[in-house]
Amino acid sequence: MSDASENSPLASHFIRQIIEKDRAAGRHEGRVGTRFPPEPNGYLHIGHAKSICLNFGLALDYAGSCNLRFDDTNPEKESEEFAAAIERDVSWLGFEWQEMRHASDYFEQLYDFAQELIQKGLAYVDSMPADQIREYRGTLTEPGKASPYRDRSVEENAELFRRMRDGEFEDGAHVLRAKIDMASPNINMRDPVLYRIRRATHHRTGDQWCIYPMYDFTHCISDALEGITHSLCTLEFEDHRPLYDWVIEHTSVPHQPQQIEFSRLELLYTVTSKRKLAELVSLGLVEGWDDPRMPTLSGMRRRGYPPEAIRDFCQRIGVSKAENKVEMGVLENSVREALNATSPRVMAVLNPLKLVLTNYPEDKTESLDCPFHPQQPELGSRPVPFTREIYIERDDFMEDPPGKYFRLKPGGAVRLRFGYIVDFESVVKDDDGNVLEVHCRVDPETRSGSDTSGRKVKGTIHWVSAAHAVDATVRVYDRLFTRRRPDDGKEGKDFKEYLNPESLTLLEGCKLEGSMAGTEAGSRFQFERNGYFVADEKDSFPDALVFNRTVTLRDSWAKIEQQQQQEEQQGQKAGQKS
Ligand code: ATP
Ligand code: MG
Repeated sequence: MSDASENSPLASHFIRQIIEKDRAAGRHEGRVGTRFPPEPNGYLHIGHAKSICLNFGLALDYAGSCNLRFDDTNPEKESEEFAAAIERDVSWLGFEWQEMRHASDYFEQLYDFAQELIQKGLAYVDSMPADQIREYRGTLTEPGKASPYRDRSVEENAELFRRMRDGEFEDGAHVLRAKIDMASPNINMRDPVLYRIRRATHHRTGDQWCIYPMYDFTHCISDALEGITHSLCTLEFEDHRPLYDWVIEHTSVPHQPQQIEFSRLELLYTVTSKRKLAELVSLGLVEGWDDPRMPTLSGMRRRGYPPEAIRDFCQRIGVSKAENKVEMGVLENSVREALNATSPRVMAVLNPLKLVLTNYPEDKTESLDCPFHPQQPELGSRPVPFTREIYIERDDFMEDPPGKYFRLKPGGAVRLRFGYIVDFESVVKDDDGNVLEVHCRVDPETRSGSDTSGRKVKGTIHWVSAAHAVDATVRVYDRLFTRRRPDDGKEGKDFKEYLNPESLTLLEGCKLEGSMAGTEAGSRFQFERNGYFVADEKDSFPDALVFNRTVTLRDSWAKIEQQQQQEEQQGQKAGQKS
């Protein structure tokens, strides 16, 4: 497995500057403790990778520690399946956690801290129904109103809270609220709910609890209990920071963590929200969380993305409070770069057309020594058989080509990669005029490496010996969505309406060079001229190969994106004028 500590050091950013200042001032004895806190209610996506690389990366850089903490306080939506997938994905990305923790490990302590707030007169049991609590909370422009239960005595609150825990009340009958300030301009400070009654079986604590703590109460205390120094989260929690600090200040927690917010990654042409990805899965619009089109880490692994490419991408996009909308092409470039360095090159014909070399003996097989990588001799080479009948790509021959077509055409010549120059002879068609075979003559003077002819041709194409070819199914993927920001709602449409109907093309009967027989699932290659491909980790078997196209060789989308961006900008300007 690749190791994240091999990545070059992170570029400096505002969080590092905060940490360095804290260390210089001797805060937390100079220690750095972070955590990655996913809720086990879905699979991790590329947005989470940003947070993982940030939290684990800082711990590595400052010789600190990073915990994996499951934020498991919503039992209805969470499961062991999701938790297991998260553990696997974090490890696959190349990171090791100091400790694995669960917010549910702290349920008993959290309960004690809630009791402490009650004893201090800083929390009360509210018995208004949920909709009334919402109504009393006020709005951005109007202050909230106090609940009639706000002034219950400490004894009564303590008693009711104990009975909530003991299961004496229906779900929703009471909640525990912090007693802060119903007139605060920050709505989060208007007596936020700390606990609710919920009879749901928890995937770890079973039916032991029927009250569950809320995120804002749980997260800061969990950070404190774990000795987290810098609690990094995304910007939507900025308005929650006063509450985070309030809970830390008013409970006798052993440590004072600090919350710092950064902007979420938004990857264009996809969605980075577990809820939306879950919708695609549950409606069967994709094959699962690990569908190679999904922006999940599991999907990207199946697609063939190497973990070092994702880490490289996370370094490139940086960390700040500014909007972080990133082109898919940036991620794909990181993937290409990583794969280019390491992938063996082989020849594979995805859409085969038979080519017969009429002057080449039928019983002859030449063995061509073909290096796996043009710049990496240490990857070695393999023998590739050359025979009278070979396959070439159907679109490497055109009967009636446009001007600058340098591949095979009537009257033309082309070089076969690692082999010979061949001259067009004739074409064989069926009754409907479809091309069945192309016939050529080999120029024996032109063998690569020992070419004495002095002939030059403009095109070189790849090929596979028909007698030695291995069949494979190849899945060619395209963007999952057709719109830059599928979930911006600007056209009043649901994000699912922008699913790309052509995001998957299945190619059967592809012809791979013989050395590919027995390829193990998960192996990555460059198919010359066609892109980077991986043997699918689930569906490919050594005797029944299925490949996923990881990424093309060039970014063919860059132009389309530019075009659409221009169109959208023009649309916006038109919208502003009207
Ligand atoms: P989602 O909305 O997709 O469910 P979330 O924030 O609810 O995301 P969590 O499991 O709570 O998912 O997230 C774990 C950590 O990952 C949090 O610290 C969160 O801030 C961070 N995170 C989630 N999405 C992104 C993103 N797009 N960019 C950066 N960090 C993210
Ligand atoms: Mg969340």
